[in-house]
Amino acid sequence: MHRPSTITVDGPAASGKSTLAQALARELDYLFFDTGVMYRAVTLAALQRGVPIDDEAGCTRLAETVKIDVQPPSVDDGRLYDVCLDGVDVTWAIRKPEVNQNVSPVSAYPGVRTALTEQQRRIGQRGEVVMVGRDIGTVVLPDADLKIYLDASVEERARRRYQECLGRGETADYEGVQAEIRNRDQIDSNRTVSPLRPADDARIVDTDSMDATETLTYILGLVRNHDG
Ligand code: C5P
Repeated sequence: MHRPSTITVDGPAASGKSTLAQALARELDYLFFDTGVMYRAVTLAALQRGVPIDDEAGCTRLAETVKIDVQPPSVDDGRLYDVCLDGVDVTWAIRKPEVNQNVSPVSAYPGVRTALTEQQRRIGQRGEVVMVGRDIGTVVLPDADLKIYLDASVEERARRRYQECLGRGETADYEGVQAEIRNRDQIDSNRTVSPLRPADDARIVDTDSMDATETLTYILGLVRNHDG
């Protein structure tokens, strides 16, 4: 079998990209790389260091200077990986509501995207990678071998994210989760630089009626039948 070496997984918030990509990478013995954590880490750095979210130059400087490391999980607490920001473990801190609320404006700054995209491209070009985000198939790795765009209705995505929060023992409110997802989708899809959209050659997969196992099985079929 001629296996696709670079696989991109894009799609809106909470469409199941990370779960699918992590399982796919494990099946293929590829690197799993979730680019959302980089935008989240820069946003957390701005919040922690008192850089206003509307300070484009300040946020860009942070993206150019902070050190973001993603490593295999060191703690068995449900995490898929460790994320370190300048040496400090921020794996759960980057999932906090303040980060959810502010990450899309920070991600819309062209300078932030340039700084992070360069690092992502370097990792992706080594191959044997499943890379997840919003613009991976369109901008970061436009020559990727297999491009997947995972979609689902906003109601279904909010339901899954809400259940995840409850599963972690957090309190959550379904309407609030749905509003936050809608807001992020709106900003991510309408920004000038690298907006969220499927690449022309992406396979669009609607997961409304598929659970995680069914989605993985379907995508593995696409990998097997890939003729690139
Ligand atoms: O995927 P996740 O929800 O963790 O991404 C957080 C945010 O980071 C997204 O809402 C989007 O604003 C930004 N992002 C991006 N480009 C990527 C990955 C994430 O703009 N490749």
